[in-house]
Amino acid sequence: MGKQTQTSPILLRWNEHVPASDVQDPLGLGLRGSARLASRLLYCITSVTPRARYFSFIPWCVLDYRQHEQGKPFASGLRDAIVLREQVLTSACIVHHGGKPCSGGALVGSQGAQRWFNRDEKAANFKRLKFAKNPALSAYFNSIVNLGFFATESELPDTDEESNVQESTFDDIELSDLGLDLAKRYDSVVSKLAVTKRIATKDRSTSLASLAEFGNLGGLCELPHKGAADRELLQNVFFALVASKGDSHRIRRQSLLLILELCRQFSTNQWVSRETEFGGAIYYGEVANEKYRLNVVVPKQLIDIATRWRMFYFHHFMGVALEGLFSWLVTQLADHGLAGTTVEALIARLDESSVRKNLSEILQVNLKGSFGESNPSNSFSSIGLSKGDLDVHLSKSLDKTVRSLAPFAEDSLEDMIRSKEHLYSSTGLALPMILLVTTLARYMQWEVTNYGKWLASAASDPYLDLVPPLVTSGLSRRFGNWWKCTWKELASFVVSRYVILQHQSMSYEKTFTGDRCLLQVDGPRVVSTGNYDEIGMTNPRLRSALQILKDLGMTEDDDDGVTHLTTDGKQFLKRELVKEAENEVS
Ligand SMILES: [Zn+2]
Repeated sequence: MGKQTQTSPILLRWNEHVPASDVQDPLGLGLRGSARLASRLLYCITSVTPRARYFSFIPWCVLDYRQHEQGKPFASGLRDAIVLREQVLTSACIVHHGGKPCSGGALVGSQGAQRWFNRDEKAANFKRLKFAKNPALSAYFNSIVNLGFFATESELPDTDEESNVQESTFDDIELSDLGLDLAKRYDSVVSKLAVTKRIATKDRSTSLASLAEFGNLGGLCELPHKGAADRELLQNVFFALVASKGDSHRIRRQSLLLILELCRQFSTNQWVSRETEFGGAIYYGEVANEKYRLNVVVPKQLIDIATRWRMFYFHHFMGVALEGLFSWLVTQLADHGLAGTTVEALIARLDESSVRKNLSEILQVNLKGSFGESNPSNSFSSIGLSKGDLDVHLSKSLDKTVRSLAPFAEDSLEDMIRSKEHLYSSTGLALPMILLVTTLARYMQWEVTNYGKWLASAASDPYLDLVPPLVTSGLSRRFGNWWKCTWKELASFVVSRYVILQHQSMSYEKTFTGDRCLLQVDGPRVVSTGNYDEIGMTNPRLRSALQILKDLGMTEDDDDGVTHLTTDGKQFLKRELVKEAENEVS
């Protein structure tokens, strides 16, 4: 992890295998929490829209159809016309790269196009060639509408799922001035090519050489090159330098500036730019590994956006803790078979001497007596925090004391929980509880601030949505001074209310039949009906944003996987930060 020689530049966790169980997001913390927050922070850059060039390519498809195909006897509908051109682009990129998909995120339908390429045919006939069932259009459509490329007033959901673009509502869609401008710029790159002309004719076939030409000029990887006519306008769109509706575009702009600024600081010290580093910089103001530590300084004009991202990570760590508890619970219950066991019996295991022994080792402190009978105040006093009540002062002092990768720190605990090392022992219950408490105690200082309210407003249904402000107020309502309740009391409440009941509500909410519910509750006994051992909770929009910045020619990776700002990226960041400073209200 961390500094230098990392060939995979982004999101290692992204590549991990798919969960064995088909249950994802068992507590709704992703879809109803992280995804909503990320949508506010990176509006229009969803987890399924990582390639910038689709944003000029799809408007171009509309333009090309209107100019060269519509009204002719062989013309298809607009949607099919776009999908056809998309298929041409996919094949063109595969041919251009000699059979390989684009790096940094292949185009939709690349695998099929590769198989076709390997058959070594002389020409491509798109009337016969099969294409992906879900074209990129479905993934990019809502974002393209929300960025204002079509002449429509309505906004569509900013979702991480593909939408089903209906033919009927689609045929009369028109490009806005902005969409037309983008489309014309892309058109200036490809309009003279043979393939562009051939594809708008009846036989829809073209030679491989002309496909390669199309890929060479209009492909996804070719956008960063200087001279790509659509690049600058796309930069201006993503950084909200064109007229746009609403505050969401300004917030996305600031998020992107923040990401650029952090890439800049990371790269001067040879750190890679991935989710882990970004999270550390935002949450702790530093990135760390076993050997090195880099202090990150957020420029004044980006502190607001960085603080919003910090709220995102409070939710993230809380989510890892609660999913960690869920995962531990279903794993333990599996041992009890159909008879199940009670929550009280499971929680009582916190008193086992092995828990005290293991925790002393993991947390590098000398814990005395039963852990279950001890409380957060006691546990945190072992690292020098005062034994007083949890207030803003204590929250700030915890913030100063518990830095990145410290034994009590969220990132260390997250790694340990995801490693599943303690999933089968009683210590596996204590670790997510400590993660939850560290996170909420660190969060406490934000509770009554506007940022705390901003985070709270991500919950729209107080019975189904969990975000840190709701959980802290739930704990306070139940216990008053929860900081001094025993770990057993806390665990018992958290597991019953925020894990078991939450999972039940969520599974009924999702399917209405409850068949995805992994827990059965029968009086005091709980039985598990499946397993869940891969914690979700990631930041997929950040991954897309990093790729989009690369596509826009603002960053590039060196051979060690370190992401550097290009000359263009440096100048752009400098100029835009000055503007942000001018706008700042002091
Ligand atoms: Zn490519």
